[in-house]
Amino acid sequence: VKQSGGNDVVFYSSEMDEEYRFKRQMASNLRIALENRQLELYYQPQCHADDEEIQSFEALLRWNDPELGQVSPGRFIPIAEETGLIIPLGEWVLRTACMEAARWKKPLGIGVNLSAVQLQKHELPDIVASVLAESGLDPKRLELEVTETALIHNPARSMKILSDIKKLGVRIAMDDFGTGYSSLATLQNFPVDRIKIDQSFVNKLVGNVQAGAIVRAVINLSRDLALDVIAEGVETDEQANFLTDHDCRAVQGYKYGYPRPIADYWHIVHPEEPV
Ligand code: C2E
Ligand code: CA
Ligand code: CA
Ligand code: CA
Repeated sequence: VKQSGGNDVVFYSSEMDEEYRFKRQMASNLRIALENRQLELYYQPQCHADDEEIQSFEALLRWNDPELGQVSPGRFIPIAEETGLIIPLGEWVLRTACMEAARWKKPLGIGVNLSAVQLQKHELPDIVASVLAESGLDPKRLELEVTETALIHNPARSMKILSDIKKLGVRIAMDDFGTGYSSLATLQNFPVDRIKIDQSFVNKLVGNVQAGAIVRAVINLSRDLALDVIAEGVETDEQANFLTDHDCRAVQGYKYGYPRPIADYWHIVHPEEPV
């Protein structure tokens, strides 16, 4: 037990040492993985609920480490953010996803997640512009997913960066909508094209009156603000029915497709010409 600066007593346990060592190892393995191209993007469909036709894909990062095995992004992204590695990593994700999408015969949309740390860098709009130029991707096809938490950290700065990005013709989606502290103010202040209803509401849709009311309210709000809306984490027919009954037509979730290597969706992005 150690007395820290204030009145807080900090407990150091071997568990914490282990956690710290694990994080350090992870950060160093992740750096090697980035250099050695051991990272991969998976692609998850975003569909029209009515006919389940795929409109776009969200790129999701996967890391299979020789020592640590499959590490989930929920685990390694925060470490990449703490260590600054998210900057080269995020640029790699953006470039790889755009290059991939630019090769598709069918010009579907591509969603890319941005970290709060990336959104604090003034170079970001230039990076997006050069990736678009390099890949030849039509900017309208690119949708960058940001969370409100990322925006409110330094609102003035992220506002400037986002509006510079929007000038390139790229779309912005508000990810995990409803889970932050000031969702409504964020919508008013930032140039957002689409709201992603967080999966924590979607997965409680059946049998939870509050979740249903929140989802309905978000759908109505997006209509009144003339924003697109998509529900994420849709797994069941009941959830899908609730969403279509309430006029949410865009959906994403295991019900429509898991995140997978693009090869598994080849027939979607390279449809056969009708004979
Ligand atoms: P997110 O952006 O909210 O992504 C949605 C997460 O939900 C993904 O987890 C996805 O695999 C999962 N998911 C999709 N459909 C369903 C469903 O029907 N049910 C359930 N239970 N889950 C579903 P994943 O791939 O593990 O990613 C977790 C988080 O890691 C992402 O949350 C995002 O915040 C972050 N992340 C992933 N890839 C990147 C990246 O390239 N850059 C950045 N900055 N963050 C990323
Ligand atoms: Ca996302
Ligand atoms: Ca999300
Ligand atoms: Ca999330």
